[in-house]
Amino acid sequence: MAAGIYPGSFDPITSGHLDIIRRVQPILGEVTLLISQNSKKQYLFSVEERKLLAEEALRGIPGVKVDVHEGLTVDYAKKTGARVIVRGLRAVSDYEYELVMANMNKKLAPMVETMIVFASPEFYYVSSNTVKEVAQNGGSVKDLVPAHVEKALETRYADRVKDLRARQKGAP
Ligand code: ADP
Repeated sequence: MAAGIYPGSFDPITSGHLDIIRRVQPILGEVTLLISQNSKKQYLFSVEERKLLAEEALRGIPGVKVDVHEGLTVDYAKKTGARVIVRGLRAVSDYEYELVMANMNKKLAPMVETMIVFASPEFYYVSSNTVKEVAQNGGSVKDLVPAHVEKALETRYADRVKDLRARQKGAP
């Protein structure tokens, strides 16, 4: 039984996600990083890739495991007996969505509490989306993601960055 679930897309896992899990694991004891799979959503990395990247990033952190789930997080919580859903909060813009989700989850599963953890200052601007945006334009995402994720992004965007560089060179 895992005490806590940290759900998200993790497309891909970033240093901000890792910071949250490192901070909550000593409090919760056991945490499952739950990769959500939504067939209606477009991802850069497949669910298998996102799982492998997360597992590699979390290797060596005790009490943490990675799992995949399609559907409501509260259903996974009920199935495994987890009592806490962990979410990270960065800017005020995250707040409204998280408030709605926490209250909806409370309605669906009153036994499950949402635990909101503020992003550390050095990671509050880091998101999977901004990291992808930077990487696909050939910028460095060093320190914003683990080294193996940086490599995976470089590989995934290699052709696109090559084309971009060629166009930049050709420009007057
Ligand atoms: P989702 O699509 O569910 O938002 P994400 O993978 O983007 O999935 O994020 C999972 C959780 O991690 C969310 O609660 C999000 O707010 C939080 N999070 C993302 N980036 C950071 C960060 N840099 N610092 C703290 N929390 C973060």
